[in-house]
Amino acid sequence: MRLGDRPPDMKSMRRAEPTISRRRRRPRIVIVGANFAGMAAAQHLDARYAVTIIDRSPWFEWLPNIHELLSGVKRPGDLRLPRARLVRRAGHRFVRAEIVRIDAPAGVVLTSAGRRIPFDACIVAVGGVDETFGVPGAERHALGFKSVDECAEIGRRLAQLARRPGRASVVIVGGGFEGIEALGEILRRQGDRPGLTVSLVEAGPRLMPNSPAVIDRAVRRHCAGHDVRFLTGTRVTRVTPMGVRVTGGKPLRSDLTIWTGGVKAPPLLRASGLADHDGKWAPVTQALRSKHHDNVFVVGDAAGLPQPLGKQAYYALQMGVCAAGNVGRSLAGRRLRDFRPSPKGMLVAFGALDTFLIAGRSVIASPALAAAKEAVFQVTMAQLDPPLGGDALRGAARRFVGTARRRLLSP
Ligand SMILES: Cc1cc2nc3c(=O)[nH]c(=O)nc-3n(C[C@H](O)[C@H](O)[C@H](O)COP(=O)(O)OP(=O)(O)OC[C@H]3O[C@@H](n4cnc5c(N)ncnc54)[C@H](O)[C@@H]3O)c2cc1C
Repeated sequence: MRLGDRPPDMKSMRRAEPTISRRRRRPRIVIVGANFAGMAAAQHLDARYAVTIIDRSPWFEWLPNIHELLSGVKRPGDLRLPRARLVRRAGHRFVRAEIVRIDAPAGVVLTSAGRRIPFDACIVAVGGVDETFGVPGAERHALGFKSVDECAEIGRRLAQLARRPGRASVVIVGGGFEGIEALGEILRRQGDRPGLTVSLVEAGPRLMPNSPAVIDRAVRRHCAGHDVRFLTGTRVTRVTPMGVRVTGGKPLRSDLTIWTGGVKAPPLLRASGLADHDGKWAPVTQALRSKHHDNVFVVGDAAGLPQPLGKQAYYALQMGVCAAGNVGRSLAGRRLRDFRPSPKGMLVAFGALDTFLIAGRSVIASPALAAAKEAVFQVTMAQLDPPLGGDALRGAARRFVGTARRRLLSP
């Protein structure tokens, strides 16, 4: 059955072939990607549908706080939840697999192991991948900043550098919010200890070029007593094992290069005929339905809305909820509802030194706002995995107590 078709007449089916046909006739919904957008959609679909949710990794990952892995304020386990448990609690089926293509006309998703999973409707929530702008060596010699594993590895490498005698250099590529959060955590970890030079390279004219200039000024002020160099208006042209080459200046020596250069669409969107070009987001209507395939909805970072939105976790959550409703409406032959984003301020942490709340062109800066960012993390994790006993309760307690203790003990 395709989206928009009338649903089967369940009463007459039940008379003909009792249990089996009732099961078979439950519309099959497949969700590809089980992080913010995909998980929100799964949690808003009920037992009227046979829902399969697929992800390559067994862990839900809370990305907005992964920078804290650099200083050790968070541990990988604090930022992860087991997908199998979340999906089981929602009453659905979790499949761990890499999806290589979504064949919308045939109504199947294909896994890298050659498995075909059929669907009547598909929700695509695959997020984005690192944008390296084709800079040679970036993928090979720089560490990305998009997952718990990557940031935990950066944390380990920083610990090794701290133990090594002599001076060390770290280069952060990108002065957007990820680069600023990375720098803040390195300074938190380093404290007043000398021996580490950090260079931050940003192609735009100032730090956080899309946000008010007050943030640039505040970050530079906080760094005055530290060995930090800002190279704004500068592009990275090559990354090597020894350092980074930049436009209009000497090469920068680097023992650790961190890439925070932005995000682009994953190849799966183009390979599945959902996006028009490589690296471009999948165009959708305001109701989040793919402009190319009626039986596919695209949500979260992967969605290219008529009016582009910031790639933010709270929009991804809102889109997941909207798409769950619209898939149901579509399967029932009802009118879809438009997605109406509800903007929230963005909290950007600068280690222990400051936190910025950005709402449009307004900025509030205060170290006390770190508590708000932590509260958003703790509360949303508890909503995703309610601490009603057993492992979920132990996980919530560990997240809360562990973070509080390590925050107090950090330099
Ligand atoms: C360092 C960092 C800090 C951030 N800070 C904030 C913040 O403070 N506030 C905020 O609102 N947002 C923040 N964001 C943005 C936010 O994390 C994203 O907007 C959000 O993760 C998007 O959710 P999503 O569900 O669309 O995609 P993702 O969270 O990226 O999830 C995509 C999922 O799809 C899976 N997947 C992808 N391809 C396949 C495939 N082929 N087969 C199987 N599975 C696949 C992935 O494994 C992943 O689990 C931050 C992001 C980063 C990287």
